[in-house]
Amino acid sequence: MTVKRPDVLVVGAGVIGCSIAYALVKRGASVTVLERETPGGVTSRAAAGMLVPTAEGLPAGPLLDLALQSLAMFPSLAAAVLEEGGVDVEYSRSGVLLPAYTDEVAEELRARANSGQDGSQWLSRAEALEREPLLAPSLHGALFQPNEGHVHPVKLTDGLTQAAARRGAAFHFGVEVDGLVRQGDRVVGVRTGGIERHAGAVVVATGSWSGALARWAGVAVDVQPVRGQMVSLRVVPQPIRSVVFGRPGYLVPRRDGTLLLGASQEWVGFENRATAGNLAMLLEAGKRLVPVLEQATFLATWSGLRPGSPDEAPILGPVRGLEGLALATGHFRNGILLSPVTGELMAEYLLHGKAKPLAPFSIERFGERKPTKG
Ligand SMILES: Cc1cc2nc3c(=O)[nH]c(=O)nc-3n(C[C@H](O)[C@H](O)[C@H](O)COP(=O)(O)OP(=O)(O)OC[C@H]3O[C@@H](n4cnc5c(N)ncnc54)[C@H](O)[C@@H]3O)c2cc1C
Repeated sequence: MTVKRPDVLVVGAGVIGCSIAYALVKRGASVTVLERETPGGVTSRAAAGMLVPTAEGLPAGPLLDLALQSLAMFPSLAAAVLEEGGVDVEYSRSGVLLPAYTDEVAEELRARANSGQDGSQWLSRAEALEREPLLAPSLHGALFQPNEGHVHPVKLTDGLTQAAARRGAAFHFGVEVDGLVRQGDRVVGVRTGGIERHAGAVVVATGSWSGALARWAGVAVDVQPVRGQMVSLRVVPQPIRSVVFGRPGYLVPRRDGTLLLGASQEWVGFENRATAGNLAMLLEAGKRLVPVLEQATFLATWSGLRPGSPDEAPILGPVRGLEGLALATGHFRNGILLSPVTGELMAEYLLHGKAKPLAPFSIERFGERKPTKG
């Protein structure tokens, strides 16, 4: 059997790999995606789906610019994924509210609103309670950012998968990449078991597992797994309208009436499991923000491994000395938010050589990389 060599082979079918695949097939490229597990992406399916650069406190600079560019893409992406993939990704511009329960936090958030930089507004206590009446009433006020919101991360990844597949992308699940096929400095494909799969270019979008490139080609990828644990609850009626981003803990209202409560941030290697201690911590944080959660029905808890880079920004683009290979990893806490822009910029780079927008996110910002000889 002869398998046609695709233009691009993407390793990893999380939200990042799927977004890249969709952006590539939209431009007419032939694409194969290899994923060692099931559809959905190990970390992507664990996320809360917040689209909240303001709440995340991203500092002014290339990462914030990238995040805002990506945020602006969601309305059209949601419409395209519904039309082409048949999946409603539940994009909502619900706004995000950051309540202040101490003078210190109130002062900090008020200053942010007054700086006028990001369009967020300071709400007095009465205004905040008018917006979200079930917040714990001892708050001093809140920062409100109306332009941000949330999306359903599982539906987003599924929708991108369907939309890309309907345009011809080939997805193979249960297929683990265990090496690269090289001709000197050039990467011409990947190895899966004993099989060589050739492609015009290879993209490593393997999230927390991107460190495997050190085994495959001697290139250290500065990504560490950072565990996050989540909880889902049900309260009738849904107690909040916006994302509520506290310290600690955040709440995300889902369209089906469930409420997500997140998330821990732990450096425990690849130990991907939810623990009793964190469940208790999250429930306590949620109850402090919205007291009626005391009476909520507990639905589920789960965990995921955020791909964390040293500066918490993604690693995008080429690896010097490995022509034909590109990286799209390290999206840490904002991979769902950054997925549309990552797909578009990576596709422009892979098909048209447009590397400039990716330059601030190059792996070389952490030092020169010297791949082993191929
Ligand atoms: C609890 C939690 C809450 C979060 N909340 C948010 C949020 O609200 N907003 C936001 O923007 N982000 C959020 N994130 C972060 C976001 O989920 C990640 O940044 C994003 O999912 C990373 O996507 P990815 O495609 O790189 O990784 P993944 O989804 O992990 O996909 C990588 C895939 O590569 C596959 N793979 C690995 N190695 C191989 C191999 N050798 N061969 C084949 N396949 C391989 C893996 O099986 C995996 O499915 C959250 C994360 C967590 C854990």
